[in-house]
Amino acid sequence: MYWEKDLETMDRKKLAELQLSRLKDTLAYAEKSYYYGKTYKEKKINADSIRSLHDIQKIPFTTKDDLREHWPYGFIAVDKDELVRMHSSSGTTGRATVIFHTANDLAVWSNLLARCMYMAGMRKSDVFQNMMTYGLFTGGLGFHYGAEKIGALVIPAGAGNSKRQIQLMRDFVTTAVHVIPSYALHLSTVFEELKLDPRKDTSVKIAFLGAEPHTEKMRRKIEEIYGYKAFNSYGLSEMNGPGVAFECPYQDGMHIWEDSFLVEIIDPATLQPVADGEEGELVMTTLQRAGMPILRYRTKDLTRIIPELCSCGRTHRRIERIKGRTDDMLIIKGVNIFPMQIEKKLMEIPGVGTNFLIILERKEFNDSMTVKVEVSKELFSGELKQLEMLRKKIIEELKSEILITPKVDLVEQDIIPKGEGKAVRVIDKRKD
Ligand code: ADP
Ligand code: ZN
Repeated sequence: MYWEKDLETMDRKKLAELQLSRLKDTLAYAEKSYYYGKTYKEKKINADSIRSLHDIQKIPFTTKDDLREHWPYGFIAVDKDELVRMHSSSGTTGRATVIFHTANDLAVWSNLLARCMYMAGMRKSDVFQNMMTYGLFTGGLGFHYGAEKIGALVIPAGAGNSKRQIQLMRDFVTTAVHVIPSYALHLSTVFEELKLDPRKDTSVKIAFLGAEPHTEKMRRKIEEIYGYKAFNSYGLSEMNGPGVAFECPYQDGMHIWEDSFLVEIIDPATLQPVADGEEGELVMTTLQRAGMPILRYRTKDLTRIIPELCSCGRTHRRIERIKGRTDDMLIIKGVNIFPMQIEKKLMEIPGVGTNFLIILERKEFNDSMTVKVEVSKELFSGELKQLEMLRKKIIEELKSEILITPKVDLVEQDIIPKGEGKAVRVIDKRKD
């Protein structure tokens, strides 16, 4: 059940020793890059300043803006000849950042992904359909090489083209898929259109859901529709991409691979570490990347460490499902709201379809929030009274969660534009 038993179940004291030794190597490497060379000089630090893991706090944080400002090569720590691959972030919050890998960096990354997929139950005998964009995005090639390392048969389907995805799944008897959660829901409407039932008409047993925040309710809804087990997969391009943290069969938090990443949780306001188990911003340091080491990277993702050890026997700590990015927080009429709060409520209400969109507007200094919610075709063309009841119920439920009263527009299934990548949940017209 383990891909690498010794590493995955390593005694925590030994794991800390391994981390310290890898951290020192990383710091020595990092100094060779333009950015960290300059930073070390300014802050008068070097690899020898670090005697314990705690000393990491002497090193300044690295932000997405630092990466953007030293674009493209300011962070590489090896001779450019050593680099063999470039990836980039999706650019969700601005200009995309780029990441470079040596051949060994890629081998380490593939191995981590193999570890993740194996943990969730994927084996050599599986047929794995990767429904993620190939190319600069890390979700395509990242998972691809991980699955090949396990020895599974990989179908590099790429994103979109829903009817073809379904056909591939059926023709080649796909047993495992990698998919963006909002796309999994969208795809279910295409199954419906084709009068197919994914539970009966496909053989998928395992799904890896990644690349965007989603609630537990959303996962359960997807599992219910497809009849497979869906595992949460977290990663970000700055830390390779997927393969950073992943659920085990207990599906209760994601094991974050501490032999490869040093993990901290900080209060984003004070930048101080929070107490064990408290929520804050995830900060990570690469421990095994030579081409482009990154120290104390502020991910802007909000989560907490689950302090208790997991029943699966792995000693690497778990992080809780990501609540959202600090950037995602909406302030409406002085109230702080995360889009995930809306998703959580919507997924609980029977009759709600597969997609939603939050629209924020400002008229004469007054903010308003409209939530467009898709409902099934039958319901939409059915009785008006029923629709109105559903609309009122949604308003009531959302109000109980976010404390303000949103407007709710019910729209027909597949009306809200749905791209192939991460779902756009919010349109903020107040900025125009
Ligand atoms: P970008 O930061 O431009 O979106 P990436 O493609 O590197 O580019 O995406 C990484 C980000 O995606 C993470 O920092 C996180 O916000 C989000 N993300 C990825 N996987 C998950 C997941 N399983 N749950 C929640 N958020 C996720
Ligand atoms: Zn576990």
